[in-house]
Amino acid sequence: MLRLPVYMDNHATTRTDPRVVEAMLPFFTEKYGNPASRTHVFGWEAEEAVKQARQAVAALIGAGPREIIFTSGATESNNLALKGVAWAYRERGNHIVSVVTEHPSVLDPLKRLEQEGFRVTLLPVDRDGLISSDQVVDALTPQTILVSVMAANNEIGVLQPLEAIGKVCKERGVLFHTDATQAVGKIPLDVEALGVDLLSLSAHKFYGPKGVGALYVRKRNPYVRLMPLLDGGGHEQGLRSGTLPTPLIVGLGRACELAQAEMHDEAERVRSLRDRLWQGLSSRLDEVILNGHPTRRLPGNLNVSFRYIRADALLVSLRNLAVSSGSACTSAEVRPSHVLLALGLEEDLAHASVRFGIGRFNTEEEVDWAIEYVAEAVTKLRRMNPLYQMAHATPVEREA
Ligand SMILES: *Cc1c(COP(=O)(O)O)cnc(C)c1O
Repeated sequence: MLRLPVYMDNHATTRTDPRVVEAMLPFFTEKYGNPASRTHVFGWEAEEAVKQARQAVAALIGAGPREIIFTSGATESNNLALKGVAWAYRERGNHIVSVVTEHPSVLDPLKRLEQEGFRVTLLPVDRDGLISSDQVVDALTPQTILVSVMAANNEIGVLQPLEAIGKVCKERGVLFHTDATQAVGKIPLDVEALGVDLLSLSAHKFYGPKGVGALYVRKRNPYVRLMPLLDGGGHEQGLRSGTLPTPLIVGLGRACELAQAEMHDEAERVRSLRDRLWQGLSSRLDEVILNGHPTRRLPGNLNVSFRYIRADALLVSLRNLAVSSGSACTSAEVRPSHVLLALGLEEDLAHASVRFGIGRFNTEEEVDWAIEYVAEAVTKLRRMNPLYQMAHATPVEREA
């Protein structure tokens, strides 16, 4: 039986997997020790759980456990990576390269660093939302200390060519950070194969709890130095002071284990649901435009513009379907998303964009229902839009 409302906003956040919750629960009420407590069993069992979680996170991305720093989420990880590297390497150079379509938690720290005297180059993307490693090469200067390129975009789901970018960064001795928040747990990622030096992730984007994430920081070849954002007890090798949130970290670890075990089959299932949604919508409606590269994208992402529709008006009539227009993080604003504008989308098409995020808990039944539900709402709104009527009138109707 279909249960309403239906959730298809899995880029904003995901439902915590019940298996993750189950793993977390004992660490609230029974095993509640501080993992830094060295003098009793409460501390030891918490420390052991954190150690296991650290191994699970590391294993998922091909890292070593000592290269994982627990944080409060990807916003903090991105801030730590960008400011931490900038401040630690400022005697080496003051130039950072990134991309216009990055998440605000990358763009805003870069703005802050610009105010401090760093120079930032933001690369433009092509019509599909992608950059090339040649663009990165052309942007590098002797002053460049860091390149930051997201793995998968949170709005249009496109996958940047990390391996090629990692290769040119390595050749030029420039550090390479990736915000992999949308990619982790959805597609295979290996920091060695990709030549990544720093990688940000957040548990709640892949069925873990909110409020916990990690930053991978390469320890050899090269050893990446970082200046911490927080000073205090010296936790996490002095890079992130503060008592470790054991239950959240255990949840992150469990989410990583589940992702590693199930990613392959899940990606296939989610991709086929996404393709079914796209087939259904584009066969029932005319003038539906797919935003972002057609194939180089996350399995669960579908971003479409319904021409002649305002997405904010559409979402009001889609009371029983949780999707988003533009970026969730800036949906309070009426400005169209900076990502869609960067693709070169006209403003009215950017305003007409809806992001569907299919995830682990979506079913075929939900997708089939959503197709009809959305198609009906779009058709109804277009019927009330004179511009659509005019463009689709028969010649006779037009004369009349
Ligand atoms: C969600 C998201 C973030 C921020 O993650 P938080 O856990 O909310 O801090 C950063 N980057 C991308 C690409 C995201 O999708």
